[in-house]
Amino acid sequence: MTFLFDHTLLSSSAVDFVDAAGVEELLQETKHDLGRFREVLAKSKSKEALTEAETAVLLAADTPECVEEIFEVARQLKKDVYGNRIVIFAPIYVGNYCRNDCVYCAFRRSNPECDRMTLSDAQLENEVREMLRQGHKRTIAVFGESHKYNAAFIAQCVEKIYAVQEGNSSIRRVNINAAPMDHEGFRIIHEAGIGTYQIFQETYHKPTYAKMHPAGTEKADFMWRLDSLSRAYESGADDVGLGALFGLYDWRFEVLGLVAHSRHLMNAYGCGPHTISFPRIRPASGIDLSWKYDVSDDDFKRLVAILRLSVPYTGLICTARENAHVRRSVMDFGVSQIDAGSRIELGGYSELGEEQVARKEQFELGDMRSLDTIICELLEDDLIPSFCTACYRKGRTGQQFMEYAIPGFIQRLCTPNALTTLQEYLTDYASEKTRNAGEAAIMRQLEKMDDGPQKRELISRLERISETEERDLYF
Ligand code: SF4
Repeated sequence: MTFLFDHTLLSSSAVDFVDAAGVEELLQETKHDLGRFREVLAKSKSKEALTEAETAVLLAADTPECVEEIFEVARQLKKDVYGNRIVIFAPIYVGNYCRNDCVYCAFRRSNPECDRMTLSDAQLENEVREMLRQGHKRTIAVFGESHKYNAAFIAQCVEKIYAVQEGNSSIRRVNINAAPMDHEGFRIIHEAGIGTYQIFQETYHKPTYAKMHPAGTEKADFMWRLDSLSRAYESGADDVGLGALFGLYDWRFEVLGLVAHSRHLMNAYGCGPHTISFPRIRPASGIDLSWKYDVSDDDFKRLVAILRLSVPYTGLICTARENAHVRRSVMDFGVSQIDAGSRIELGGYSELGEEQVARKEQFELGDMRSLDTIICELLEDDLIPSFCTACYRKGRTGQQFMEYAIPGFIQRLCTPNALTTLQEYLTDYASEKTRNAGEAAIMRQLEKMDDGPQKRELISRLERISETEERDLYF
């Protein structure tokens, strides 16, 4: 028996915009054509979003020369739109009870090897306090899909996370990853002050979706999930994040699914997603993954670069699922946001030791390095770690954010704001090695800035942060 939600509660733009046969045909029929390839690259250079057909042209261009050209254009586009800043966050897993039974997930309800728990208020506070002591300012709260974690519960968790004060620091933006809701549910979490509402379609290939999400589980309702971000928009939660789990089906199909989803939101609400994630399947306690589709490191780098070109104004997130080497390479030409110093076990920050505890986590992490180590590496790569939350707190979200991002204004705000949050980290949390690398990076950035009132104001703010207790200064 297939479970279905009440589809009269779908959004006003609800439509199944992923025509599986059409996508397969597009992938089959789009043969590599150098002339067409050049046309599409030229469009990307002008920072215009690409259609599914244009994205298929890039997917078909698999000669080493063309792949290198795609990396080159993606590298330049990333610089033009995002500068050299990398936004930093860390996840907090709140509860892993789940009513679903997804074939690939350690939290699936039928997995006997999963230690089930929901953080108590005290445990949640201790987790947040430990994250603040490391220097974090941005988090994403993650919930299994259980009725325990309804909109009211999630809203309370968000408020409790914001309320934790550790010295002169607190979390400034709480994104969430949770089950799809109806309009009322989204209104409740929006009013609780969430940043981005993130949900992954997992796969846009419906036959695979049905195989991975057993009939009778709520997640089996493909359309209810596909439409969830539209309902979020219509309920005021206009910063949304989407994603697919790479390894469930052909990665090229999923790339076209992500592009189709972004274009659907842009056409229906005038605003694309705030972020796109592309997690690759990872080993998970008690889970057989012998069936998975292979997505090699080279394929992974290609899909990141192609998404960079297809959705130029959407942040791309690469999480600590990936190992340090892969993460470092994809930040060069596409990724604008990473987590760092992450623990994904329930109680991972404040209750567990160095080693991962597989029975308490959804999948195995690939990058367990500390926040300080990752920040130091970013600085060595001439990238600026940013804990900025200014747009969210200035109301520059959804369509308003796009109005800043598209003409390129955002850079004028992102870099100065990144530098003040970096100065906070260097002053309050950094190791000596990272502090020295950070101070040098700030000087290099200031030298690149035009002289003028904003630069003078920025220098004054950097001095106030390093010499006084003043914090949280942003444009
Ligand atoms: S993927 Fe999400 S919904 Fe599926 S079993 Fe895991 S936690 Fe539950």
